[in-house]
Amino acid sequence: MRAVLSTGSNMEDSRAHLASVARAFADELVAASQVYRTAPWGGVEQDDFLNQTLIVDVDCTPHELLARCQAAENAAHRVRDVRWGPRTLDVDIVALFDDTGQEIFVDTPDLIVPHPRADQRAFVLVPWLELDEQATMGGQSVQSLLRALPSTPENHVSPA
Ligand code: ATP
Ligand code: CA
Ligand code: CA
Repeated sequence: MRAVLSTGSNMEDSRAHLASVARAFADELVAASQVYRTAPWGGVEQDDFLNQTLIVDVDCTPHELLARCQAAENAAHRVRDVRWGPRTLDVDIVALFDDTGQEIFVDTPDLIVPHPRADQRAFVLVPWLELDEQATMGGQSVQSLLRALPSTPENHVSPA
């Protein structure tokens, strides 16, 4: 199964926290985007984020992958406090594909894939397009999803 992961951090050594995810998936890593700087999304006043997208090929179930993402967050001492607030590390599953390239859909209480808000987030779409210009999500091209976003400050994503 191929997974597109979106990572973010705006506390402590954010680059190191992002790098810890690439390290946790080192043997399964297909591609890693540049690190981007992004204004916070969701209306909470806080520092800018660093964001990165990873593509990994993993041999596990979607829920096992979620557990690995959460283990990476826990290793960064992630504290769950304010929704969309500051965090040492956030690792989200953006999209999943089977070995034939077919998109995998998950809709369970603790895991929804594709990620239900990813299509509204330039900080997810821009780094993903860097890795795969032809990327699709929910049957739509990521390029067209990105073009549909308004040019607001939080949609301004630049290499860090
Ligand atoms: P957002 O989901 O809007 O990006 P967030 O990342 O801040 O917000 P978290 O507190 O990190 O939200 O996660 C809340 C819950 O979301 C997790 O405990 C997890 O069970 C659930 N979840 C559902 N779908 C996904 C997904 N595709 N990737 C990661 N977590 C998910
Ligand atoms: Ca998130
Ligand atoms: Ca999350």
